[in-house]
Amino acid sequence: MINANRLKETFLEIVQYDTGSDPKSVTSPSTEKQLKLAKVLVSKLKNLGLESVVLDQYGIVCGTLPGNCKNDVKIGFIAHMDTSPDVATGPVKPQVHDYKGGDIRLKNNVVIAADDLKKYKNHTLLTSDGTTLLGADDKAGVAEILEMLQILKDNPSIPHPELKIAFTPDEEIGRGTENFDIEAFGADIAYTVDGSSPTDIDTETFNAFNPQITITGIPVHTGYAYHKMVSAIEIANRFMDALPADETPAETKEKEGYFHVLNISGTPEKVKMDMLVRDFDYKKAQKRIAFLHSICEDLERRYPQAKIEIKDNEKYHNMNEKFAAFPEMIELTKQAVKMTGLVPQETYVRGGTDGAELTLRGLLTPNLGAGGENFHALNEFVSLGVMVQCVQNLLNIIQLWNEQAPHLTAKIKKISPCR
Ligand SMILES: [Zn+2]
Repeated sequence: MINANRLKETFLEIVQYDTGSDPKSVTSPSTEKQLKLAKVLVSKLKNLGLESVVLDQYGIVCGTLPGNCKNDVKIGFIAHMDTSPDVATGPVKPQVHDYKGGDIRLKNNVVIAADDLKKYKNHTLLTSDGTTLLGADDKAGVAEILEMLQILKDNPSIPHPELKIAFTPDEEIGRGTENFDIEAFGADIAYTVDGSSPTDIDTETFNAFNPQITITGIPVHTGYAYHKMVSAIEIANRFMDALPADETPAETKEKEGYFHVLNISGTPEKVKMDMLVRDFDYKKAQKRIAFLHSICEDLERRYPQAKIEIKDNEKYHNMNEKFAAFPEMIELTKQAVKMTGLVPQETYVRGGTDGAELTLRGLLTPNLGAGGENFHALNEFVSLGVMVQCVQNLLNIIQLWNEQAPHLTAKIKKISPCR
């Protein structure tokens, strides 16, 4: 039923749009160019029979595929349109490789090493020409959702509940869900299709705080500073000294948490510091925050004339806490992956996903694989065969929700953010 050629053509069409997001921009979406693809996706969704298709003022595309059965669960599928600004984002000239072995060599001496390609012999592989990112992150997810919708349109006998679709901008700069209106979206549960392997179901992320520390000192002319000046920079320095040197992103792995100073700027009068505090365990994340507060209090005692303010800025939670309230959802998703003929893996991400923020705000949203590899690099690639498996996962998920939702109605109503 899945048309691999059509899936490939859709993917090749949408990757050509340069949709790099921009962390320095203050607008939403961060770049005007994302809207070009957004408009194309609006017309695609309309052609696929979706209703209430809108492109909102923030660049988010949403649409509804009405259900064709009695089942009233509403399932959301979300992918992001933007691509990472870490490397050149476009215009993308995608290449199709009938892969038989060896390294793949692209322009600018960009190489995809044979070692990374062992499991892809005889696959159709899609890459950029080496001068830009490919953007399979996350246009593979967008193309897979479109292929799923095409199959449902062409096969009206396949029963499906109401589907809520969203394509979002600015995920790569951490602002993907900033303007996302969960209630207007109207899904009971949702999936982001934005991971790598089709076996993976990301159900764990860090608990994340982005603390901001503002230190106000007393600036005095250096010539008259004796016992008068209180330098905010010096206090910031003491603050950094108090952080454990072996608990940084560079010194931690797997499920270890960390402190990270992301940005520091200022003068002796005022210093602002932006930090990341991450931990998979929520209690430990809170302890880390309490530790930062204790450093600030110590420093205030030591420099009583200075003022030190700290804002915790909680960003997102480890999703697994929320899934504990509805384990059936993860079980069902694993079963869908098994039906594709794969061995499902519950995985964790040392970062956040858009789904983690949505989950914290009440919409349970695990992340599914979209197939891409070497994300955010010029040698990014995706296998067409793997993308087909990802589409199959989506179709299986719909089938299973359709079958199982009647037994889960009470629970769905309880966890749904829009009922
Ligand atoms: Zn992504």
